[in-house]
Amino acid sequence: MYLIKTPRVIQKLFPNFHWRVEAKSPQPSIYLTFDDGPIPHLTPWVLEQLAQYDAKATFFCVGNNARRYPTVLQQVIDAGHTVGNHTMHHLDGWKTDNVPYFHDARHCAVQLKTSLFRPPYGRLKPSQAQFLQRHYEVVMWDVLSGDFDPELTPEDCYDNVVDNAKAGSIVVMHDSLKAEENVRAILPRILKHFTELGYTFASLTPELLTKPGVVADARLKTA
Ligand SMILES: [Zn+2]
Repeated sequence: MYLIKTPRVIQKLFPNFHWRVEAKSPQPSIYLTFDDGPIPHLTPWVLEQLAQYDAKATFFCVGNNARRYPTVLQQVIDAGHTVGNHTMHHLDGWKTDNVPYFHDARHCAVQLKTSLFRPPYGRLKPSQAQFLQRHYEVVMWDVLSGDFDPELTPEDCYDNVVDNAKAGSIVVMHDSLKAEENVRAILPRILKHFTELGYTFASLTPELLTKPGVVADARLKTA
């Protein structure tokens, strides 16, 4: 069971995580994120779709995939997208002890040279959350496409995104084999839909996430 739209109450439980981008910009932006790649079978196709709309995105890479497919990783970087850390081995925080989890995350951060981190499955124990938020920008989301769910049709996934995403939203998609059918069906439509409404698609950067604003204020209060 999972929620398409992350309720505010959950966002408030972890105020130091990034759930959406609060920074004001003159043009409304949506922040598409792609988890679990990079893979040669799908990631280059995603890059082509993004390029058609001059859209930038953020790829939370599994370190092992990045190591296995360095040229695909390089294509992501060369196209101007941001690369984030999704652990070396797609670890489930609930099922992994802290020391091996932190080691795996650190290994991935060093390999990908990134401070952005997204926990696989969004699962972290409180002690892991405490530690990770001190060392990384922990990026969650406010909208899940559900593209990974075999029970959902492409139409369901498309609706999940267009009905819920708004300016500043961080949207989860996947460049993985499991999500392939849905992603291929919905990504071009999502890009077209929001572009026609006047949105741009931007990548997440440490600078953007740490800009003074709501997130930084929350951090001060808990310091
Ligand atoms: Zn994942």
